[in-house]
Amino acid sequence: MAIPIIQVKNLYKIYKVGDTKVYALHGVDFEIYKGEFCAIVGPSGSGKSTLLNMLAGLEKPSKGEIVIDKVHIEHMTENQLVEFRRKRVGFIFQSYNLLKTLNAVENVALPLSFRGVPKKKRNAIAEKYLKLVGLEKQMKHMANAMSGGQQQRVGIARALAVNPRIIFADEPTGNLDSKTTMEILKLMRRIVREQQQTLIMVTHDNHLASYADRLFHIVDGKIFKIEQMHHEDDDLEENEHENKMEESPDSVDGGPDGSRDDSGHTDDGQGAAIG
Ligand code: ADP
Repeated sequence: MAIPIIQVKNLYKIYKVGDTKVYALHGVDFEIYKGEFCAIVGPSGSGKSTLLNMLAGLEKPSKGEIVIDKVHIEHMTENQLVEFRRKRVGFIFQSYNLLKTLNAVENVALPLSFRGVPKKKRNAIAEKYLKLVGLEKQMKHMANAMSGGQQQRVGIARALAVNPRIIFADEPTGNLDSKTTMEILKLMRRIVREQQQTLIMVTHDNHLASYADRLFHIVDGKIFKIEQMHHEDDDLEENEHENKMEESPDSVDGGPDGSRDDSGHTDDGQGAAIG
């Protein structure tokens, strides 16, 4: 946990509404490390989405610094930000955004096809990540024939398949029941830890946030508390694994080998020069 992947310094976002100024972010400072699952939690209107948009390079700050992977993104041009997002960032949405008439493998492979990964290779990668999220038996199922929880797992596999360093999730389990929500959050926590990625989730729900490694509590555009969580179940999950597999073959805890495929399916170095 030595090197921060994200550093935020004195970050401000000020919107002008008529004659008044709205301080959506009012001097925010923090660091996030590789392998961490962080939740940004706070009431509606507190600045969560604004912060997520800044970190993902979707909006520019009014003032302050955002350093991601040692690069200052607040100085980037629009084209550079597009390239940054394509190479570094994955998104998990509440609404899954799957293509309903494609099967699970095709949905996960789609972003890879946009990056020019050949079909055989992208299908192999898609299958690997679908196994990782516990959907070994649903690979050929059409998205519209899957449950909400299964669709969200496909969405997670799709976000992970391009091997992003940072994954952003905005209320990712908003449409799911509480048991599925818990499984999905534990799954995400385990995968990012194993793959040394970084997951940042925005939520207004304190209970959901409690699955994260650290909670950033935000109110009125300011972080007033950073809370470290301790998940005692983490060590047990491996031991429970086999029992769970027998009881419920579709358990999200089943199957993955956790190895990270660095066999060149990211497009680092292949992208067009920017700037
Ligand atoms: P949250 O995601 O926690 O609900 P937001 O980040 O969406 O909060 O909003 C923080 C504050 O900034 C709110 O007061 C909101 O009204 C204001 N705000 C957000 N976006 C804009 C905008 N485009 N123009 C003006 N005010 C905005």
